[in-house]
This record gives sequence, C-alpha cells and structure tokens, in this order.
Amino acid sequence: MRVLVTGGAGFIGSCFVRTVLKDGGPDTGPDGAGATGDSVTVLDKLTYAGRRANLPAHHPRLDFHHGDIRDRALLRELLPGCDAVVHFAAESHVDRSLHRADAFTETNVLGSQVLFDACLEAGVERIVHVSTDEVYGSVTAGASKEDDPLLPNSPYAASKAASDLVARAYHRSHGLPVMVTRCANNYGPRQDPEKVIPHFVTRLLDGQDVPLYGDGSHVRQWLHVSDHCRALRLVLEKGEPGEIYNIGGGTALTNRELTLRLLRLCGADTGRIRHVTDRKAHDLRYAVDDSKLAALGHRPLVPFDEGLARTVDWYRTHRDHQEGNVA
Ligand code: NAD
Repeated sequence: MRVLVTGGAGFIGSCFVRTVLKDGGPDTGPDGAGATGDSVTVLDKLTYAGRRANLPAHHPRLDFHHGDIRDRALLRELLPGCDAVVHFAAESHVDRSLHRADAFTETNVLGSQVLFDACLEAGVERIVHVSTDEVYGSVTAGASKEDDPLLPNSPYAASKAASDLVARAYHRSHGLPVMVTRCANNYGPRQDPEKVIPHFVTRLLDGQDVPLYGDGSHVRQWLHVSDHCRALRLVLEKGEPGEIYNIGGGTALTNRELTLRLLRLCGADTGRIRHVTDRKAHDLRYAVDDSKLAALGHRPLVPFDEGLARTVDWYRTHRDHQEGNVA
C-alpha cells in the first residue's frame, strides 16, 4: 500500500510516518531492493512547524515532496497510485490563531477542501482526516461524543471544525471514503517548542521560568503521540467511511498539575512558575468519550509518567530542537 501523508514533517505526522516505515520487515538496501511494507509519500509545506529532519534523510519507502496541500496540480501528480491519504497538514497553534487567523482558514479549511477534491478525482480508497477534540469547545462535565454539537471557541478550533464539516459533506455529497478523528492533546518528541510541554521543558532546562496561563486550572487529556498514531492506523484499516472517531484514553490533568510534573522532571521548584494573563476564550476543559474507537480494539499503551519522563529526556538530549520562526 502507498499512503500519502500531508504534514508528515510535523510533530504527529512524522511520528506516523516513522511507525509506518518501521513496519514490514528489514529493508535490504538504500536502493529499496527487497524492501517490504507500506510506502509513504509525504507532502509538507515546511512551515515554521515542519522540519525535514523530523523524518529519515533517506529511506527506500519514503518519498518527500515540499509543497502546499492547496496546490491542485501537485496533488494531481502525487495522488495517482496512492491507496490512502492521512491528512495532518494544518496550522495547529491556538495562540497564533488568536493573533492572525488567515493561514488557519487558508490551510485548514481551503487546503482540506482542495485535498478532498483531488482525492475524489484520483479515486483514493481511504482517507483519514486528523482533527481535534477542541472542535467540541469547553466541556464542563462528562465527555464529548462524536455526534455532540461543534462549539469551537478559538479561530484554530473553528477552522478544524469547518474542515470536519467539509469532510462530512464530501462523504455525503460525493461518497468520499473519509473518516474523521478527533484526538486529545498529544505529547512526545519532535513537537515545536511553541506548545506547552516542549516550551516549558526547554525553558526549564535553560534555567528560565515558565508562563502558566491564569490559575492553571484548565484540564486537558494527554496522550502519547505514538498512541495517537496507533489509533490512526486502526481507523485507516478498520474505520467506517463517513464516521467520526474520538481518540482519548490519555491522562487528564490541570495545567498546574502538568507543570508540577515538568518541574520535578527538570529538577526545578515552584518558584519558576510565573502566572500570566489567561488566553482569550481559553477552554476550561476538554474530554472525549472514545468508546467507539475502543470498540475497534484500540488501547493506549504508553503510561503517562513514563512517556512524560522519556519526552523530557528527548528534549534534554536534542537541545537544537528550538522553536520555529515566529512569523
Ligand atoms: P504541527 O504544527 O507540528 O505540524 C503541521 C505540519 O503541517 C507541519 O509539518 C507543516 O509544515 C505542515 N503544513 C502546514 N501547512 C501546510 C500546507 N498548506 N501544506 C502542506 N503542509 C502544511 O502539527 P501537529 O501537532 O503535528 O498536528 C497535526 C494534526 O493533528 C493537525 O491537523 C492538528 O490539528 C491535529 N491535532 C493535533 C493535536 C496535538 O496535540 N498536537 C491534537 C489533536 C489533533
């Protein structure tokens, strides 16, 4: 099988590509002779968040293309021969969307629609559209189910919710075989240090303080990126076109609890916490009910404390992994 992965040089996309390349037995040589397993074509614009170095420099089953998902001509070149598409490419940082949302609408909404059009034209058999639990908005109690209303509160979440609806409409109108996934917060190696865990860890390792929004009582479910990618592969294989799958099963923590764990792992104390004005319309809590995915057979494998300790170690030993350009 050949899979086109959009945004494959980003945090989660690169983890997905690496796990696909790891499968399928040993590759016998740099020319690909004897290579088995699925092949991957990556399409990535290499924005500040995308790094070519997040992927192997050479691999017989990896084909990398630097380009934009809104480029129809390029998609027409790349899609023929692809059996599946996993769509990660997006502008992904809430804070950036609060300052300037244009790129969020352009990539997340328009880009997804252009990609779905091109998939339809090329007759791609399975598509996974990777979305987020943030589309449900803040959940005071209980957990969001897949058919709950979409109540996004940030321009980022709104652009993802819009792309979910475009996916739904392409399935309903044209029969596009697309599945939508909505995952909780991910953590792990290779995330841009603009996001809270690598941001705090890199600052603590540099002896700096950490900016905690508001009173730190916001609750997020944290899932190791490898567990997210495992769930995506399951949905790719066994998901029902037109369906939505929540991906949760992580550990729920307030941002303050998370910060205390990071301080401990970095050998720092609470004196390093600096409370800063809360983010606009900051959702208090996300929680997803992932029983639909569990029924397909998914169980997260990485215990949170172990995964977090390994993640901190990764940033400790990859000090060159710095925040991308602030455009
Ligand atoms: P990321 O910002 O690390 O990576 C995004 C990638 O997309 C980058 O490599 C970037 O270069 C690429 N890209 C951006 N615009 C593009 C364009 N127009 N054409 C081609 N490539 C483009 O993001 P991430 O954290 O890896 O998130 C991946 C996906 O997962 C996103 O769709 C995001 O909404 C979703 N998601 C993320 C999380 C999380 O906790 N990080 C949780 C749930 C869902």
